[in-house]
Formats: sequence, structure tokens, C-alpha cells
Amino acid sequence: MNIVLLGSPGSGKGTQGALLSSHTDLPRISTGDLLRSAVARQTPLGQKARSFMDQGLLVPDDVIVGLIEEVLASDEVERGVIMDGFPRTVRQAEAVDRALSVRGALVDHVLYIDVPEDELVRRMMGRANKEGRSDDTPDAMRERFRVFWKQTAPLIAYYRDKKRLTEVSGLGGIEAIQKRILSALEQ
Ligand code: ADP
Repeated sequence: MNIVLLGSPGSGKGTQGALLSSHTDLPRISTGDLLRSAVARQTPLGQKARSFMDQGLLVPDDVIVGLIEEVLASDEVERGVIMDGFPRTVRQAEAVDRALSVRGALVDHVLYIDVPEDELVRRMMGRANKEGRSDDTPDAMRERFRVFWKQTAPLIAYYRDKKRLTEVSGLGGIEAIQKRILSALEQ
């Protein structure tokens, strides 16, 4: 089963993705984690990605599409995958569809974790203090929200049209949200 987790920065995608991964025994792949690791190791990918990430901008599709193709061609995702943080643009979504179709697979479920913006800001301010991520500054955070609504939110309609989308409220405790996600996957 191939699952996409869609949600704005601070929606809890990462936390829910990790829980879902242990529940389903499917690997969770986060492009954000892959990129942060590439930045830390100063690989060519990391060098290309760093300044975009620090400004809260998306890393260009030309870079990410290659990464997506690599990830979805690996043996690790043969039985399925939980995609956390990608696709983030329509072009990336098309790349995911293409890469999966090579293996006769498709995106089975898209879970849109919906959280009101004032709650998102509150959560991210808390996380900035705790984790010290270099893109959790107020300016970069504002930019990441803007980018989400402009470049990623169109995927809500993209997957709704394909009848793959389920909206899940991301308000409440971690366990309550996880329950909603699991019951959405049973439909
Ligand atoms: P968040 O959801 O909190 O923004 P992520 O870890 O998913 O955190 O992403 C952090 C940053 O990494 C993004 O702001 C962006 O610069 C970059 N990034 C991650 N995934 C992608 C992607 N699929 N396409 C383009 N940029 C990405």
C-alpha cells in the first residue's frame, strides 16, 4: 500500500507518519529528513538544497524529482511506502505516479491532515525552541506556510479528483489523530 501524508508545516505529518509506519510495517520516507541528512553530510544534493531550505522555499522540482525516482525505485519500498513531505507540487505528484506505475502500483491513499493556521503557528514556535531547526525562524516559517498554500495545496484537488483523498482533522492528541488515520485507511 502506498500512502501519501499531506499537510502543512507543523501539521504533525512526521509524528503520524512514524506511528503509521510501525503500525503498518511499511517504511516511512521523508524527503525533509533525506535533505537534512544530505545537508549535514555536505553531499552535492545537500549543497544544492541548503539555501532553499533555510529560506523556507521548496527545493526545485528538477532536484527533487530525481530523488523521488531514486527512492521509489529502491527495493525498500517494494511492499509499499508512507510518503512524508512529498509530493509537494503537482509535478512531483506526476513523478510519483510515473515511478509507481513502472512497478504496476499507484498511490492508494492520500491523507490530508488538516490543522487551522493559528494552531500551526503555536506548535511551530514550540518546536523551534525545542529542536533548533535552522528553518524554524519566524521568517522562514511564514514563507513555508505561504509556499504550502501556493505550491502544495493544489495537490488536495489533484488527489480529490482521483478519488484518493481523505481529510483527517489534525486537532487533538497524537493518539486520537492516529485513530482517525487508521480508520480512514480501512474505508
Ligand atoms: P515541514 O513539513 O515542517 O516543512 P519537511 O521536513 O517536510 O518539514 O521539509 C523541510 C524543508 O525541506 C522544506 O521547507 C523544503 O525546503 C525541503 N523539502 C522537503 N521535501 C521537499 C519536497 N518534496 N520538495 C521540495 N522541497 C522539499
